[in-house]
Amino acid sequence: MARSEFSLIASYFSRLGAARDDVRLGVGDDAAIVTVAAGYELAIAVDTMVSGVHFFPDTDPYLIGYKLLAVNLSDMAAMGAEPNWMTLALTVPQADEHWLEDFSKGLADLALAHGVQLIGGDTTRGPLTLSLQIHGLVPQGTALMRKGAQPGDLIFVTGTLGDAGLGLKIAQGALTVSGAERDYLLGRLHRPTPRVELGMALRAVATSAIDVSDGLLADLGHILEASGVGAQIQLEQLPLSNAYRNAQPEVDYSAALGGGDDYELCFTAPAQQQQNIIERAQKTNTPITCIGTITPAPGIICRLHGNTYQPKLNGYDHFAET
Ligand code: ADP
Ligand code: MG
Repeated sequence: MARSEFSLIASYFSRLGAARDDVRLGVGDDAAIVTVAAGYELAIAVDTMVSGVHFFPDTDPYLIGYKLLAVNLSDMAAMGAEPNWMTLALTVPQADEHWLEDFSKGLADLALAHGVQLIGGDTTRGPLTLSLQIHGLVPQGTALMRKGAQPGDLIFVTGTLGDAGLGLKIAQGALTVSGAERDYLLGRLHRPTPRVELGMALRAVATSAIDVSDGLLADLGHILEASGVGAQIQLEQLPLSNAYRNAQPEVDYSAALGGGDDYELCFTAPAQQQQNIIERAQKTNTPITCIGTITPAPGIICRLHGNTYQPKLNGYDHFAET
């Protein structure tokens, strides 16, 4: 990177996001130094977005910056961790001032909303690739994990499912929706809502958790595998938005079950915790829905109006043999 280009880029990323008291050394030295409070553990995750793979090259850079952080915040939510700091590895073909300005704005808006500070990174020239690492705190021993679901536990999801999957179809030109519902579905694809506050509120209550990035069946499947259990889910209980219901001539569950990019939480908890869970969801303004139960036998059984329902999805192998 030429010096002038580097200083242009540095101007956008030297101060970004919250200004936190626990950052002893932020951008500008060889590494950042943060103070980790006693009794806490660090939760660390990284996600990379490659142009042409994770987003269309002409996507509004504001939305790319926003989503890059949103998907990382969603990982923190799934662990019950409080996100505090982030580092950014930026690979760009050239220093495009407008692109960098809008990208950094999208990143900064969401970072400020969650109290996260950018504390360092790396900048290189190459095909557009954005890699963000997030660092959060969780009280020792309280992190939510994929393992821990027990037979009899209830299965919950936040928000609505499948909207981002339909948004992707719209963006690809494979689905036609107009007006406010089109904007809503595309918004769900580009601006996911990471469920950070609920994730933290579930620390002492949920037995397992994951964020839904690859579709409910795949991600619930990860919980089941890690926990050594199975699940039965009721399709008529899946939370679907009005836009989702209206976008297709008859209700089709495939995007809700197999569409990616929702970034909602899927978690389990003992049935006697249901009221407690509902209260925590209300306190954090998070819509939640109970969609089924954990079973001892492995695999996922989908039920629709009392019958077993075999979803038509490709490349998914977590189904129970029935
Ligand atoms: P080094 O050669 O020691 O890795 P660099 O010249 O790569 O240092 O970076 C100088 C400073 O700028 C470091 O503190 C680094 O963390 C920060 N930095 C570089 N690129 C970015 C970026 N994209 N976002 C945030 N901070 C960055
Ligand atoms: Mg460097």
